[in-house]
Amino acid sequence: MPVDMRMLKSEFMSRVKCHLRSLKAEVIQPDESVKLAAQTTIERQNKMAILKIVKYPEAVLERAGDAVTEFDDDLKQLVSDMFETMYNAPGVGLAAPQVGVSKQVFVMDCSGGKDPQQKIAMINPKVLHTEGEYTAEEGCLSFPGIFFDVKRPMRAVVRAQDVNGKEFEVDGLELTARCMLHEKDHLDGVLFLQRTSPLKREMAKRRIRKLIKQGEW
Ligand SMILES: [Zn+2]
Repeated sequence: MPVDMRMLKSEFMSRVKCHLRSLKAEVIQPDESVKLAAQTTIERQNKMAILKIVKYPEAVLERAGDAVTEFDDDLKQLVSDMFETMYNAPGVGLAAPQVGVSKQVFVMDCSGGKDPQQKIAMINPKVLHTEGEYTAEEGCLSFPGIFFDVKRPMRAVVRAQDVNGKEFEVDGLELTARCMLHEKDHLDGVLFLQRTSPLKREMAKRRIRKLIKQGEW
């Protein structure tokens, strides 16, 4: 344990030194605006933010997200902020349109933070295969307090890119399949409201209108 701590400390110190060197380089940068922008980037790299989750009926929720073409620091920041926001909610999945960003990005963790292997960000996901079906109760962070029984495939194979643009596939069963398909729906502008019966959908819409009127939504 003490050895690990020392290693950690020396690694930390070398990082601080690197950081100080880069700051020093910025100080002699003649253009003040460039310097400020660079400092903001450094600050942002060290911070995660909890984003505001937009609720139905915000228009962004029913619009298909744009494909991601730049796998840059802004994307990595968005993904880490989305994880932070999802865990804080708490939820097991969160799509970019739910934080007001119309892009093909979602994050999920069906273990609720217990299993690092289940912490997955999917960029530009495509559903390759689904099979079987089962019904289970679903909720959505953009519909707080509203739950429906939704029929979905039992298994889903989804191909996506990670934050560096590298392709990977997830072959998920039950909750994992359900979560991927619920989030992929968000990226297509489809809400779980549309996956239930017209009667239940109308009842939920009426309830939401009432809550909005009462200032409780
Ligand atoms: Zn949702």
